[in-house]
Amino acid sequence: MRLIFLGAPGAGKGTLAELLAKEENLAHISTGSMLREQIREGTNLGKEAKGYMDSGQLVPAELVSSILADSLKSLAKDQGYILDGYPRSLEQAEYLDKLLEDLNTPLDAVVQVEISNEVIIDRLSSRLTCESCSSVYNLKQNPPKVEGVCDKCGGKLIQRDDDKAEVIKQRLEVYEINTKPLIDYYKNKDLLVTVDNSGSPQAGLAKLLEVLKK
Ligand code: AMP
Repeated sequence: MRLIFLGAPGAGKGTLAELLAKEENLAHISTGSMLREQIREGTNLGKEAKGYMDSGQLVPAELVSSILADSLKSLAKDQGYILDGYPRSLEQAEYLDKLLEDLNTPLDAVVQVEISNEVIIDRLSSRLTCESCSSVYNLKQNPPKVEGVCDKCGGKLIQRDDDKAEVIKQRLEVYEINTKPLIDYYKNKDLLVTVDNSGSPQAGLAKLLEVLKK
Protein backbone atom coordinates (compact mmCIF):
# COMPACT_ATOMS: atom_id res chain seq x y z
CA MET A 1 0.00 0.00 0.00
CA ARG A 2 1.33 3.42 -0.97
CA LEU A 3 -0.47 6.22 0.85
CA ILE A 4 -0.35 9.96 1.42
CA PHE A 5 -1.67 11.45 4.66
CA LEU A 6 -3.06 14.94 4.20
CA GLY A 7 -4.30 17.16 7.00
CA ALA A 8 -3.76 20.33 8.98
CA PRO A 9 -0.85 20.49 11.44
CA GLY A 10 -2.09 18.79 14.61
CA ALA A 11 -4.68 16.64 12.84
CA GLY A 12 -2.77 13.60 14.10
CA LYS A 13 -1.22 12.50 10.80
CA GLY A 14 2.07 11.49 12.41
CA THR A 15 0.55 9.46 15.25
CA LEU A 16 -1.93 7.74 12.94
CA ALA A 17 0.80 7.07 10.38
CA GLU A 18 2.99 5.49 13.06
CA LEU A 19 0.14 3.20 14.20
CA LEU A 20 -0.84 2.17 10.66
CA ALA A 21 2.80 1.64 9.64
CA LYS A 22 3.23 -0.82 12.53
CA GLU A 23 -0.06 -2.60 11.80
CA GLU A 24 0.54 -2.98 8.05
CA ASN A 25 4.36 -3.09 7.94
CA LEU A 26 4.66 0.16 5.99
CA ALA A 27 7.54 2.63 5.95
CA HIS A 28 6.61 5.93 7.63
CA ILE A 29 8.16 8.77 5.66
CA SER A 30 7.81 12.13 7.42
CA THR A 31 9.49 15.06 5.71
CA GLY A 32 9.15 17.12 8.92
CA SER A 33 11.06 14.44 10.91
CA MET A 34 13.71 14.18 8.18
CA LEU A 35 14.19 17.96 8.25
CA ARG A 36 14.42 17.99 12.07
CA GLU A 37 17.07 15.27 11.81
CA GLN A 38 19.04 17.42 9.37
CA ILE A 39 18.83 20.29 11.90
CA ARG A 40 20.03 18.05 14.74
CA GLU A 41 22.95 16.87 12.62
CA GLY A 42 23.83 20.47 11.75
CA THR A 43 23.89 19.87 7.96
CA ASN A 44 23.73 22.76 5.47
CA LEU A 45 20.24 21.67 4.50
CA GLY A 46 19.20 21.69 8.16
CA LYS A 47 20.67 25.17 8.68
CA GLU A 48 18.80 26.47 5.64
CA ALA A 49 15.51 24.82 6.64
CA LYS A 50 15.48 25.88 10.32
CA GLY A 51 14.44 29.51 9.84
CA TYR A 52 11.46 28.55 7.68
CA MET A 53 10.38 25.84 10.11
CA ASP A 54 10.70 27.99 13.24
CA SER A 55 8.49 30.65 11.70
CA GLY A 56 5.86 28.17 10.47
CA GLN A 57 6.64 28.64 6.75
CA LEU A 58 7.13 25.92 4.17
CA VAL A 59 10.74 25.00 3.47
CA PRO A 60 11.53 25.70 -0.23
CA ALA A 61 10.39 22.78 -2.40
CA GLU A 62 13.84 22.07 -3.87
CA LEU A 63 15.26 21.31 -0.39
CA VAL A 64 12.44 19.01 0.69
CA SER A 65 11.84 17.27 -2.64
CA SER A 66 15.42 16.03 -2.90
CA ILE A 67 15.35 14.30 0.51
CA LEU A 68 11.92 12.88 -0.29
CA ALA A 69 13.12 11.51 -3.64
CA ASP A 70 16.22 9.92 -2.03
CA SER A 71 14.05 8.30 0.61
CA LEU A 72 11.55 6.84 -1.90
CA LYS A 73 14.29 5.60 -4.22
CA SER A 74 15.98 3.79 -1.34
CA LEU A 75 12.92 1.62 -0.64
CA ALA A 76 12.47 -1.86 -2.11
CA LYS A 77 9.97 -1.66 -4.98
CA ASP A 78 7.33 -3.69 -3.16
CA GLN A 79 7.74 -1.83 0.17
CA GLY A 80 4.54 0.03 1.01
CA TYR A 81 4.73 3.42 2.70
CA ILE A 82 2.92 6.39 4.14
CA LEU A 83 3.98 9.88 3.13
CA ASP A 84 3.34 12.15 6.12
CA GLY A 85 3.77 15.87 5.43
CA TYR A 86 4.53 15.57 1.72
CA PRO A 87 3.23 16.91 -0.61
CA ARG A 88 2.25 20.23 0.91
CA SER A 89 1.62 22.26 -2.25
CA LEU A 90 0.43 21.69 -5.82
CA GLU A 91 4.00 22.11 -7.02
CA GLN A 92 5.11 19.24 -4.74
CA ALA A 93 2.12 17.08 -5.76
CA GLU A 94 3.08 17.44 -9.41
CA TYR A 95 6.72 16.65 -8.61
CA LEU A 96 5.58 13.52 -6.74
CA ASP A 97 3.35 12.41 -9.64
CA LYS A 98 6.35 12.55 -11.94
CA LEU A 99 8.62 10.76 -9.46
CA LEU A 100 6.12 7.93 -8.88
CA GLU A 101 5.53 7.60 -12.60
CA ASP A 102 9.30 7.23 -13.16
CA LEU A 103 9.46 4.63 -10.37
CA ASN A 104 6.33 2.93 -11.75
CA THR A 105 4.78 2.86 -8.27
CA PRO A 106 1.33 4.53 -8.36
CA LEU A 107 -0.43 5.69 -5.18
CA ASP A 108 -3.25 3.57 -3.73
CA ALA A 109 -5.00 6.31 -1.76
CA VAL A 110 -4.72 9.75 -0.21
CA VAL A 111 -6.09 9.89 3.33
CA GLN A 112 -7.50 13.20 4.47
CA VAL A 113 -7.12 13.25 8.28
CA GLU A 114 -9.79 15.58 9.63
CA ILE A 115 -10.39 17.31 12.98
CA SER A 116 -11.85 20.68 14.01
CA ASN A 117 -9.67 23.81 14.45
CA GLU A 118 -10.33 23.96 18.23
CA VAL A 119 -9.06 20.39 18.69
CA ILE A 120 -5.98 21.23 16.56
CA ILE A 121 -4.89 24.16 18.73
CA ASP A 122 -5.54 22.23 21.93
CA ARG A 123 -3.53 19.24 20.66
CA LEU A 124 -0.56 21.17 19.32
CA SER A 125 -0.11 23.25 22.42
CA SER A 126 0.03 20.10 24.59
CA ARG A 127 2.26 18.12 22.22
CA LEU A 128 5.76 17.02 23.25
CA THR A 129 8.34 15.51 20.90
CA CYS A 130 11.39 13.40 21.75
CA GLU A 131 14.59 15.29 20.97
CA SER A 132 16.35 12.03 20.07
CA CYS A 133 13.91 9.71 18.26
CA SER A 134 11.08 12.16 17.27
CA SER A 135 8.35 10.11 19.02
CA VAL A 136 5.30 12.23 19.70
CA TYR A 137 3.37 12.46 23.01
CA ASN A 138 0.39 14.48 24.14
CA LEU A 139 0.16 15.62 27.75
CA LYS A 140 -3.60 14.97 27.81
CA GLN A 141 -4.21 12.05 25.47
CA ASN A 142 -0.95 10.14 25.40
CA PRO A 143 1.39 11.25 28.21
CA PRO A 144 4.84 9.64 28.71
CA LYS A 145 5.20 7.23 31.65
CA VAL A 146 7.84 9.48 33.25
CA GLU A 147 7.38 13.23 32.91
CA GLY A 148 9.71 14.74 30.32
CA VAL A 149 11.27 11.40 29.30
CA CYS A 150 10.63 9.39 26.12
CA ASP A 151 9.15 5.91 26.85
CA LYS A 152 10.89 4.45 23.81
CA CYS A 153 14.47 5.72 24.01
CA GLY A 154 14.79 7.67 27.28
CA GLY A 155 15.44 10.90 25.32
CA LYS A 156 14.38 14.34 26.54
CA LEU A 157 10.86 15.50 25.60
CA ILE A 158 10.61 19.07 24.34
CA GLN A 159 8.01 21.35 22.85
CA ARG A 160 8.84 21.91 19.16
CA ASP A 161 9.68 25.54 18.47
CA ASP A 162 6.92 25.57 15.86
CA ASP A 163 4.29 24.28 18.36
CA LYS A 164 4.30 27.63 20.19
CA ALA A 165 0.97 29.50 19.91
CA GLU A 166 2.09 32.28 17.53
CA VAL A 167 3.71 29.84 15.11
CA ILE A 168 0.73 27.45 15.17
CA LYS A 169 -1.47 30.23 13.76
CA GLN A 170 0.99 30.78 10.92
CA ARG A 171 1.20 27.05 10.14
CA LEU A 172 -2.60 26.80 9.98
CA GLU A 173 -2.67 29.71 7.52
CA VAL A 174 0.03 28.09 5.38
CA TYR A 175 -2.03 24.88 5.38
CA GLU A 176 -5.19 26.70 4.25
CA ILE A 177 -3.41 28.49 1.41
CA ASN A 178 -0.89 25.93 0.12
CA THR A 179 -1.97 22.46 1.18
CA LYS A 180 -5.78 22.48 1.26
CA PRO A 181 -6.06 22.74 -2.56
CA LEU A 182 -4.53 19.23 -2.67
CA ILE A 183 -7.81 17.81 -1.35
CA ASP A 184 -9.52 18.69 -4.64
CA TYR A 185 -6.43 17.69 -6.62
CA TYR A 186 -6.60 14.11 -5.28
CA LYS A 187 -10.42 14.04 -5.26
CA ASN A 188 -10.28 14.65 -9.01
CA LYS A 189 -7.88 11.72 -9.35
CA ASP A 190 -10.37 9.59 -7.40
CA LEU A 191 -7.80 8.81 -4.71
CA LEU A 192 -9.20 10.71 -1.72
CA VAL A 193 -10.64 9.03 1.38
CA THR A 194 -11.48 10.87 4.61
CA VAL A 195 -11.05 9.82 8.24
CA ASP A 196 -12.40 11.72 11.24
CA ASN A 197 -9.58 11.73 13.81
CA SER A 198 -11.15 13.82 16.60
CA GLY A 199 -11.09 10.92 19.08
CA SER A 200 -8.26 8.79 20.43
CA PRO A 201 -5.43 7.55 18.17
CA GLN A 202 -6.79 3.97 18.48
CA ALA A 203 -10.26 5.10 17.41
CA GLY A 204 -8.71 6.93 14.45
CA LEU A 205 -6.79 3.81 13.46
CA ALA A 206 -9.92 1.63 13.60
CA LYS A 207 -11.76 4.08 11.30
CA LEU A 208 -8.79 4.27 8.97
CA LEU A 209 -8.52 0.47 8.64
CA GLU A 210 -12.24 0.32 7.88
CA VAL A 211 -11.96 3.00 5.16
CA LEU A 212 -8.88 1.39 3.58
CA LYS A 213 -10.57 -2.02 3.45
CA LYS A 214 -13.15 -0.52 1.09
P1 AMP B 1 5.66 18.57 10.21
O1 AMP B 1 6.53 17.79 11.12
O2 AMP B 1 5.10 17.74 9.06
O3 AMP B 1 4.58 19.34 10.92
O4 AMP B 1 6.60 19.67 9.51
C1 AMP B 1 7.25 20.66 10.27
C2 AMP B 1 7.75 21.76 9.36
O5 AMP B 1 8.70 21.22 8.43
C3 AMP B 1 6.70 22.45 8.51
O6 AMP B 1 6.00 23.47 9.18
C4 AMP B 1 7.57 22.99 7.37
O7 AMP B 1 8.28 24.14 7.77
C5 AMP B 1 8.59 21.87 7.17
N1 AMP B 1 8.11 20.88 6.17
C6 AMP B 1 7.82 19.56 6.39
N2 AMP B 1 7.43 18.97 5.25
C7 AMP B 1 7.47 19.94 4.30
C8 AMP B 1 7.17 19.97 2.91
N3 AMP B 1 6.68 18.88 2.28
N4 AMP B 1 7.36 21.13 2.24
C9 AMP B 1 7.84 22.23 2.85
N5 AMP B 1 8.11 22.29 4.15
C10 AMP B 1 7.94 21.15 4.88
